[in-house]
Amino acid sequence: MALSKKFIDKMEKSLLAIKREIIDELVGSSKEFEEMVTDLSPKDLADIASDDIDRKMLEAKGQTLLKRMKLIDAAIARIKQGKYGLCAKCGKPIGEKRLEAIPYVLQCIECKEADEKRAR
Ligand SMILES: [Zn+2]
Repeated sequence: MALSKKFIDKMEKSLLAIKREIIDELVGSSKEFEEMVTDLSPKDLADIASDDIDRKMLEAKGQTLLKRMKLIDAAIARIKQGKYGLCAKCGKPIGEKRLEAIPYVLQCIECKEADEKRAR
């Protein structure tokens, strides 16, 4: 079943909110990052693309945050492509419950578990 526009709008809002929190946290954790963000000077911090961020200036914690931010950017891109909520791997619907729990999830539970098995 396709996701309703209302649901997708809600997810897009939470994605942007999470992204905003991540950027705030990065700004708070690194002086260099704060300066870089000031240089980029977008009207909204959430407009900063994760690809614009120089990962070299981030410490371990920032790297983790940046990884999450990339997932969020990817999820937002999928909303724009009309593919949000479909597994990036097998194309099956991910399910509203799973999306509500993790709005930036890109894979269905089966594919994620298969990946984790392989990683072990
Ligand atoms: Zn899948």
